Amino acid sequence: MPNFFCEHCGSKASSITNLTASSCHRHPNGPSKGKHKLYEGSEKSKYSCKYCGTSASTITNLVTSSCHRHPDGPSKGKHAPSL
Ligand SMILES: [Zn+2]
Ligand SMILES: [Zn+2]
Repeated sequence: MPNFFCEHCGSKASSITNLTASSCHRHPNGPSKGKHKLYEGSEKSKYSCKYCGTSASTITNLVTSSCHRHPDGPSKGKHAPSL
Protein backbone atom coordinates (compact mmCIF):
# COMPACT_ATOMS: atom_id res chain seq x y z
CA MET A 1 0.00 0.00 0.00
CA PRO A 2 1.44 3.38 -0.91
CA ASN A 3 1.36 6.16 1.65
CA PHE A 4 0.19 9.68 0.87
CA PHE A 5 1.56 12.69 2.71
CA CYS A 6 0.44 16.27 3.24
CA GLU A 7 3.07 18.71 1.98
CA HIS A 8 2.17 21.28 4.68
CA CYS A 9 2.33 19.10 7.78
CA GLY A 10 3.55 15.63 6.79
CA SER A 11 0.39 13.82 7.86
CA LYS A 12 0.20 10.35 6.37
CA ALA A 13 -2.87 8.64 4.94
CA SER A 14 -3.54 5.44 3.06
CA SER A 15 -5.48 7.18 0.29
CA ILE A 16 -5.67 10.64 -1.26
CA THR A 17 -9.36 10.71 -0.36
CA ASN A 18 -8.62 10.23 3.33
CA LEU A 19 -5.77 12.73 3.26
CA THR A 20 -7.65 15.59 1.63
CA ALA A 21 -10.81 15.00 3.72
CA SER A 22 -9.24 16.34 6.93
CA SER A 23 -8.23 19.82 8.03
CA CYS A 24 -4.55 20.69 8.06
CA HIS A 25 -3.20 22.25 11.26
CA ARG A 26 -0.33 23.79 9.28
CA HIS A 27 -2.30 25.10 6.34
CA PRO A 28 -0.69 28.30 4.91
CA ASN A 29 -3.98 30.22 5.41
CA GLY A 30 -3.94 29.34 9.12
CA PRO A 31 -4.43 26.28 11.33
CA SER A 32 -7.37 24.23 10.06
CA LYS A 33 -8.27 26.91 7.48
CA GLY A 34 -7.97 24.33 4.77
CA LYS A 35 -7.48 20.65 4.06
CA HIS A 36 -4.30 18.65 3.81
CA LYS A 37 -2.64 19.03 0.43
CA LEU A 38 -1.20 16.04 -1.34
CA TYR A 39 2.59 15.97 -1.56
CA GLU A 40 3.03 14.92 -5.17
CA GLY A 41 6.58 13.65 -4.89
CA SER A 42 7.42 10.05 -4.16
CA GLU A 43 8.11 8.67 -0.70
CA LYS A 44 11.80 9.20 0.07
CA SER A 45 14.33 8.43 2.78
CA LYS A 46 15.24 12.14 2.84
CA TYR A 47 13.30 15.29 1.93
CA SER A 48 14.90 18.58 0.90
CA CYS A 49 13.45 22.08 1.20
CA LYS A 50 12.71 23.52 -2.24
CA TYR A 51 13.78 27.01 -1.11
CA CYS A 52 17.01 26.43 0.81
CA GLY A 53 17.98 22.77 0.42
CA THR A 54 17.79 21.87 4.11
CA SER A 55 17.04 18.18 4.40
CA ALA A 56 15.20 16.05 6.93
CA SER A 57 14.24 12.40 7.21
CA THR A 58 10.49 13.10 7.22
CA ILE A 59 8.22 15.84 5.83
CA THR A 60 6.98 16.47 9.37
CA ASN A 61 10.50 17.22 10.60
CA LEU A 62 11.24 19.40 7.57
CA VAL A 63 8.12 21.59 7.80
CA THR A 64 8.48 22.12 11.56
CA SER A 65 11.40 24.55 11.15
CA SER A 66 11.43 28.07 9.75
CA CYS A 67 13.04 28.59 6.36
CA HIS A 68 15.62 31.37 6.06
CA ARG A 69 14.98 31.53 2.30
CA HIS A 70 11.21 31.47 2.37
CA PRO A 71 9.68 33.54 -0.50
CA ASP A 72 7.70 35.64 2.04
CA GLY A 73 10.94 36.61 3.79
CA PRO A 74 13.55 35.01 6.04
CA SER A 75 11.83 32.84 8.66
CA LYS A 76 8.39 34.10 7.56
CA GLY A 77 7.40 30.55 6.75
CA LYS A 78 8.43 26.95 7.07
CA HIS A 79 10.54 24.75 4.84
CA ALA A 80 8.60 23.15 1.99
CA PRO A 81 9.49 19.74 0.54
CA SER A 82 10.71 19.62 -3.04
CA LEU A 83 9.27 16.88 -5.27
ZN1 LIG B 1 -1.53 18.85 6.42
ZN1 LIG C 1 13.95 25.96 3.61
